[in-house]
Amino acid sequence: ERLVQADADGEDTAVEAALRPKDLDEFVGQEKVREQLDLVLKAARARGATADHVLLSGAPGLGKTTLSMIIAAEMGAPIRITSGPAIQHAGDLAAILSSLQEGEVLFLDEIHRMSRPAEEMLYMAMEDFRVDVIVGKGPGATAIPLELPPFTLVGATTRAGLLPPPLRDRFGFTGHMEFYAPTELERVVHRSARLLDVEIDADGAAEIAGRSRGTPRIANRLLRRVRDYAQVKADGRIDRPVAAAALGVYEVDARGLDRLDRAVLGALLKLFGGGPVGLSTLAVAVGEERETVEEVAEPFLVREGLLARTPRGRVATPAAWAHLGLVPPQQGGK
Ligand code: ATP
Repeated sequence: ERLVQADADGEDTAVEAALRPKDLDEFVGQEKVREQLDLVLKAARARGATADHVLLSGAPGLGKTTLSMIIAAEMGAPIRITSGPAIQHAGDLAAILSSLQEGEVLFLDEIHRMSRPAEEMLYMAMEDFRVDVIVGKGPGATAIPLELPPFTLVGATTRAGLLPPPLRDRFGFTGHMEFYAPTELERVVHRSARLLDVEIDADGAAEIAGRSRGTPRIANRLLRRVRDYAQVKADGRIDRPVAAAALGVYEVDARGLDRLDRAVLGALLKLFGGGPVGLSTLAVAVGEERETVEEVAEPFLVREGLLARTPRGRVATPAAWAHLGLVPPQQGGK
């Protein structure tokens, strides 16, 4: 359970739902995707047609689910939400597709994790609004074609490159979601604070935004923890000192690193002089599994320019020394 994790595991879904922007105007940031999507949807509406299939790529917590709901809302259509891993058999997908209403939005999260047969069924459904349902087994099996009402598929994936090209090519529009700039996250924090009825000033919002790793979901989560602190330890109002003290309690530092991130970085600097050191050695030094260090801690450290993965091992950057307030050993001495 990490406060700074970007996916929704263990999230209070009711609170998340309450904080979701309901239309494109309320959706903060992602200017390019918003502008492009606005055109796609307006044009479809003007033609009285169902919108083209949309692929959204980007890291967890950047608003892909939110955007799919906005697409449905803007089209005045219902939405069905499911995910690749939930569709094990082609039959599961056929059941969902055949129950869609005309114009409905089908949101398929983690679309790259669908089974192969389901994926192939989806190709035909996306292109021709038709599926072949296989009835029976072995030599007696027959394919019964089934017409589908036109629908809009919104697929979400962490990386568009993970998708097989035939699937990728069937989307009329691909939107790439970027990490949010600090000023955009400040707007997210202000908006959420208003909805949660919490008083916050500009510096307080900036403090939370700066620790949110470019991710609205994390910003909202940190805001809720800071709100608790403000209620218990202050007068309920959030300013910079309150936000900083609250997130200090939760060990989320000024740059959004948490205890694990700092342990990894600290070991790399203090025990291995900044590297290079092998992943396994580093993992043993912090008492974590290799996978935890590699998949949980490192991606953000790399993104922040604090750690580099090189062929010879993990290496700390000058920014890492500065961040932990340490002085790198003299280079080229002796
Ligand atoms: P995952 O891939 O993990 O499901 P996601 O990309 O679908 O994540 P969402 O569930 O859409 O992310 O968003 C997470 C939370 O962040 C939501 O509660 C939403 O309120 C907030 N959020 C996301 N994007 C924005 C935005 N552009 N403006 C305001 N709030 C946002």
